[in-house]
Amino acid sequence: MILVSACLIGENCKYDGGNNYCEAVIDYLSDKPYISICPEVCGGLRTPRTPSEIINGAVIDKYGNDKSAAFASGAEEAALICDSLNIKLAILKEYSPSCGVSYIYDGSYNGRKISGSGITAALLRRQGVTVWSEKDVVRNSSPKTLAGIQQMSR
Ligand code: SF4
Repeated sequence: MILVSACLIGENCKYDGGNNYCEAVIDYLSDKPYISICPEVCGGLRTPRTPSEIINGAVIDKYGNDKSAAFASGAEEAALICDSLNIKLAILKEYSPSCGVSYIYDGSYNGRKISGSGITAALLRRQGVTVWSEKDVVRNSSPKTLAGIQQMSR
């Protein structure tokens, strides 16, 4: 069983009401059992919602409100799901303050990215779950999948 960010498989749970549909993730999951989650929605945030970024370890929305508790709650929900279903791999959306695997926005709301992890990705990693971003999926996909992705991007 694999845990996946809900927005990567097309659920409209992104802060702006859209999604981050990723063909490579869909292809990768096509023959595997998986469960999707949006940690921010699980943490009680509405869609659409004000975007948030991580500043000095706290999650602060664009208007300066501290949303750390909601993000922590969503992360704990994801961790509970992984624990109860013995999930060892999570595929999460890069750059998100919840799901970002290797990079997040720097907290300035200027679109700059820095090394770091979102709240959920960090918690799952501490729990022993392997965490991939959608870019890792492409790197780890079969040649057949990669050929398909390259074909689509032409
Ligand atoms: S919290 Fe994760 S699953 Fe939810 S919209 Fe953001 S990146 Fe996608």
